[in-house]
Amino acid sequence: MDSLLSRPETAEPLSLYGREAVKEELRRAIAAGSTEPETLIGAARESLSRRFAPTVVRVVNGTGVLLHTNLGRSPLAEGARDAIARVAAGYSTVEYEPATGHRGKRQDHVRGAARALFGAEEALVVNNNASAVYLALTALARGRAVLVSRGELVAIGGSFKIPEILEASGAFLREVGTTNRTTADDYRRALSADTALLLTVHPSNYEIRGYAISPEPSEIAAVAREAGIPWVHDQGTGCVVSLDEFGVSGERTVTNCLADGADLVTFSGDKLFGGPQAGFAVGRASLLSKLAEHPVARVVRPDKLALAGIAATLTAWKTGRWRDFPLYRAAAAPIEALEARAERIRSSMAGSAFAIEIVPSFAVFGGGTSPEKKFASRALAVAREGLSADELTLRLRSGTPPVIARVEAGRALLDLRTILPEEDVVVERALKEV
Ligand SMILES: *Cc1c(COP(=O)(O)O)cnc(C)c1O
Repeated sequence: MDSLLSRPETAEPLSLYGREAVKEELRRAIAAGSTEPETLIGAARESLSRRFAPTVVRVVNGTGVLLHTNLGRSPLAEGARDAIARVAAGYSTVEYEPATGHRGKRQDHVRGAARALFGAEEALVVNNNASAVYLALTALARGRAVLVSRGELVAIGGSFKIPEILEASGAFLREVGTTNRTTADDYRRALSADTALLLTVHPSNYEIRGYAISPEPSEIAAVAREAGIPWVHDQGTGCVVSLDEFGVSGERTVTNCLADGADLVTFSGDKLFGGPQAGFAVGRASLLSKLAEHPVARVVRPDKLALAGIAATLTAWKTGRWRDFPLYRAAAAPIEALEARAERIRSSMAGSAFAIEIVPSFAVFGGGTSPEKKFASRALAVAREGLSADELTLRLRSGTPPVIARVEAGRALLDLRTILPEEDVVVERALKEV
């Protein structure tokens, strides 16, 4: 062992992984049977680099889904990235007021700007939107009934199910109407002395069509007002501006929802808002003070990095720089620009074993913006003799960095809309490596 550790080839692994880990892997290599020092050190190096390779790494998103929950949702704006890096490197004012030298409030970094951006009386930032919904339910409805339309008892992603969150919060679910039809009178009939609030949920990942109705926002607001209970709306996406210009219609902004009469609106920070993982609750100050003072608020509080990122993202929205966010740049990229990029990648691969075609494609915002709302895009359809589309996509995602494609009609598709322009060279390199 000593002679192995003192060989020049071991110097680099020692400096990268430390003595203990290197010894452990050398022992394992020895136990596997070899006696040749080069072989032993080579085997140890290989398993060390595998063992300590980071697993949360950047990937190239060729799926066409802009807010892909499995791929980390929104890339951050430049200002947010800088703010997070600065705060991460040292101490910070997360709960400190330099002016007075006294303890400061964590929420003060985001409250004012969030109130101004969303036109809300008050705002609170927590760990994620599921936390915001849970906190609202437990602080406002524990032990009491919550009205939810049967058409909105939804599951979002693998683990956010409205009935389960409700049950965990200690509130009781009072189902209203039917899956496809719920009216304001259905809500009225479901009211009782025990009703704490009315909850509506943005239909994030499904649409009910055909023989279907749901009340207008003004009707829901009227039911809640007459009954003297709050209307809590889980808006989900954190939409700040209309998405009409991207060809996606009907997505209500958070400000719209408040203007419709919702008393509390909850949403994610890392979807259309374009920030790091966080959850917002905005609306009436009297309700938000109940949320802020509840012990669960401490359980779901945001960390300093998320706060720094959210604060910088709020500033970018408020100063009109949202069009520079990677998310909105990607959404707004003209088809001709996507086509030109696709053409450049394709011509760089000329003479290779790949058959590459540029095909029309559809991108979606994702992350709770209805999957039905597709907008035009362009993709590279890549095929290679002797390699199935599944094998090809496997190889692409096994590279460094992984390039994530989708398979459609037996071909691997790389959608240019979700690939950042500076990543085109990475895609080229990945294809060449395959
Ligand atoms: C995304 C979403 C959630 C979950 O939000 P997280 O930030 O992932 O916790 C809840 N409700 C709706 C309507 C959503 O769109």
